[in-house]
Amino acid sequence: MNHPAPESPAPEPPADAVARLRGTYRTGRTRPVGWRTGQLRRLRALLTEGGPDLAAALRADLGKSSAEAHRTEIDFTVREIDHTLERLDGWLRPEPAPVPEHLGADARAWTQYDPLGVVLVIAPWNYPVQLLLAPMVGALAAGNAVVAKPSELAPATSAALARLLPGYLDTDAVAVVEGGVPETTALLAERFDHIFYTGNGTVGRIVMRAAAEHLTPVTLELGGKSPAFVDRGTDLDVVADRLVRGKFLNAGQTCVAPDYVLTDPGTAGALEGALARAVEALYGTDPAASPAYGRIVNERHYDRLAGLLGSGRVVVGGVGDRSAKYLAPTVLADVDPAAPVMQEEIFGPILPIVTVAGPDEAVGFVNERDKPLALYVFTDSAEVRERFAAETSSGGLGHGLPLAHLTVSDLPFGGVGESGMGSYHGRWSIETFSHRKAVLEKPLG
Ligand code: NAD
Repeated sequence: MNHPAPESPAPEPPADAVARLRGTYRTGRTRPVGWRTGQLRRLRALLTEGGPDLAAALRADLGKSSAEAHRTEIDFTVREIDHTLERLDGWLRPEPAPVPEHLGADARAWTQYDPLGVVLVIAPWNYPVQLLLAPMVGALAAGNAVVAKPSELAPATSAALARLLPGYLDTDAVAVVEGGVPETTALLAERFDHIFYTGNGTVGRIVMRAAAEHLTPVTLELGGKSPAFVDRGTDLDVVADRLVRGKFLNAGQTCVAPDYVLTDPGTAGALEGALARAVEALYGTDPAASPAYGRIVNERHYDRLAGLLGSGRVVVGGVGDRSAKYLAPTVLADVDPAAPVMQEEIFGPILPIVTVAGPDEAVGFVNERDKPLALYVFTDSAEVRERFAAETSSGGLGHGLPLAHLTVSDLPFGGVGESGMGSYHGRWSIETFSHRKAVLEKPLG
């Protein structure tokens, strides 16, 4: 006899989840440092014990290899937890402030970090584990209750996180709400004490508008076109190897991936050859067969990317298979700044090369456009490095190595202008998810 499958319980309506977490927060349960570190240890256990499940989900959603899933998502988050556990007491220590004379010698003043309350974390699909859990590390370490909203565009990972998280974390203080636009819209109607959103600028504006209704502060981790400048006279094999590793990781679907390359006409030809060699060295002659190379998240993004392949002369790649969501690592040369590929963030495995006369023009090129999330400079000249540092504005600046700045836990990670506002990682997450309360104490006696 066939038994009907047991029905899974209906998902908790967003409003109920928020009210429930607020009730918990008001009891003070999330404040003690012991509760916070306990939650971080449980989250660490989830990543260790649930690692294989998460890696399998990441493979299903994005074709990520297990090695890449661990390096860029699972182990990355474990490191963030360990870094926080080691230093949290120090970060939370109240900071004394000098007291002016008119208040008397017996007055004391300090700042202390208060939790904010109930915070919402909305994650995108491209690093769906890291970008949900790393902000949660900071939110929990700062003593908040958390509503976590994974991306519906990475459905296997969303389901795995929704299944695993309640088994490890305090479910009275942490809720997972799965879903897409309707569910997120319902969540955004609620009052939160902070909203941490990672994704594109269009939705970033929707989030900020909804937050304004409740005067809720927001962190917006957005994207944009992150340029790379390659100076003449650099070792192009080293530069190409690093550019290729940074660009084609996760099939180019990385918010801080080098979006395009600026170089002078005398260097462009040699760089093209070096990039083609670097692609082959990393992924072989047929990247489709390389277990290290990922897939495009869905057909819609595949079609968008395929439409950009005509924006220049194909140096390497330029081919794909829609049914497999495979798009080869592609380098395009002779790209006009007015070409379609240069109009929006590429967010896929296409690397255009645009020529400029030299560093002067490159600085101007960057400054004429939206402030990027990251800017990469490859040069042996300290003077050129200083010029970019002093004369351009970007969320982060990487000299000689793309992506890696975000693995330095003591550096704030975030954008500026169109690439976002606010930052996190390490103690910067405590700054984001806490209120710095000013306290003055004057004895009555
Ligand atoms: P996405 O489509 O998964 O959207 C992100 C989140 O927004 C999801 O949880 C989704 O449910 C929600 N959402 C979508 N439409 C919504 C709506 N109308 N109202 C409310 N919520 C909505 O991801 P995406 O935006 O395609 O992500 C890619 C972008 O994110 C790129 O621009 C990339 O550069 C950027 N990004 C930035 C960072 C960073 O750390 N700064 C990291 C990763 C990605």
